[in-house]
Amino acid sequence: MSSKKGKKNYIKKKLYSRFSLAINITYAIALNEITTDYRKLRGLMKFEISATDGNARRGTLETRRGIINTPVFMPVGTLGTVKAMTPEELKDIGTEILLGNTYHLYLRPGTGPIKKLGGLHKFMNWDLPILTDSGGFQVFSLAPLRKIEENGVHFRSHIDGSLHLIGTTEAMKIQGILNSDIAMTFDECIPYPASYEYASKSVDLTTLWAGRCKRAQNSGQALFGIVQGGLFKDLRRKSSEEIINIGFDGYAVGGLSVGEPKEAMHEIIYFNAPILPADRPRYLMGIGDLGDMLKAVEAGFDMFDCVMPTRNARNGTLFTGSGKVSIKRAEFKSDDSPLDPDCGCYTCRNYSRGYLRHLFLSREILSMRMNTTHNLFFYLNFFKNMRESISKGSFRKFKDRWGAIFQ
Ligand SMILES: [Zn+2]
Repeated sequence: MSSKKGKKNYIKKKLYSRFSLAINITYAIALNEITTDYRKLRGLMKFEISATDGNARRGTLETRRGIINTPVFMPVGTLGTVKAMTPEELKDIGTEILLGNTYHLYLRPGTGPIKKLGGLHKFMNWDLPILTDSGGFQVFSLAPLRKIEENGVHFRSHIDGSLHLIGTTEAMKIQGILNSDIAMTFDECIPYPASYEYASKSVDLTTLWAGRCKRAQNSGQALFGIVQGGLFKDLRRKSSEEIINIGFDGYAVGGLSVGEPKEAMHEIIYFNAPILPADRPRYLMGIGDLGDMLKAVEAGFDMFDCVMPTRNARNGTLFTGSGKVSIKRAEFKSDDSPLDPDCGCYTCRNYSRGYLRHLFLSREILSMRMNTTHNLFFYLNFFKNMRESISKGSFRKFKDRWGAIFQ
């Protein structure tokens, strides 16, 4: 009798444990779906298009740290600072989002100090949105002795030669510690020229890595997928489809402006933008030439970043209403007029060309500050006027006017 009862109890227990396992699995699946739905509902970011003019779009991208007006230019703060500018000055000239470089911050100062000091925003005293790249581009363009494997890239630091590995796990983990508002997937950025076979393999690897990054997405952080494929349209299409299939908060086009002829780059820009989802932000990575960005906005891109305005400023090349100007020019020696009479920036309101030339030739620190203030103001104001032209339906006129100056 007792053995019968024992057997019954054993079966009961076994059944119960199976049942509870099944319940747990169902519960876990449901919870996962709820979490996914909650994330969708909560909306890591909200992207709304308020006006279109041809394929050009004006919109707003709402993130957890603020609203970004698009098309937007993102100044680059490589090492936790936009060189020569304070966060307050960046805000004063209308900066709504900055870009931080995962590769550089990982090597210097490293994730330890940034984590201890409360993440990148707190570390650099910037409370508006930050987008971080995944480190992919720099690993491929800066680091010597790199070796690409399925789990990532082994490379030597360009600073001290130490050995490192960055793959999908590392890229997502570092961006999680930086706590940026928008993270990027880890991709392979191929050089130019590249063979079809190489570009094709690289697209496969980029898709594999994109899937892994998506599964490792940090809570509360938006994640953009990156399309590769070199200059091959069929590979660009394949890469776009695969990345869209995985599903991201926004879509980026990478691997351009790596030495290819401008015409070839423009062709890919016009080809790639319209095959990306219209209801998500489209980001053209690393292209900051004003003429190129005009074309990219015309194609339907919304977001841009580049060191061009800041680096050129430090080298004495300034952007004005009549084109690029070198502040070194001898004719500026005793010129009392502002750098750009139509510019409302602090530099143009207060200093003469003669003084700016003197600062630059004397290698004064103030030269970098004044030149960067002007160039970034010029870029941000350019984008502000471009957004207005889209609203007014006069983007074509805007593009023709400025395209003639910045070809
Ligand atoms: Zn100015």
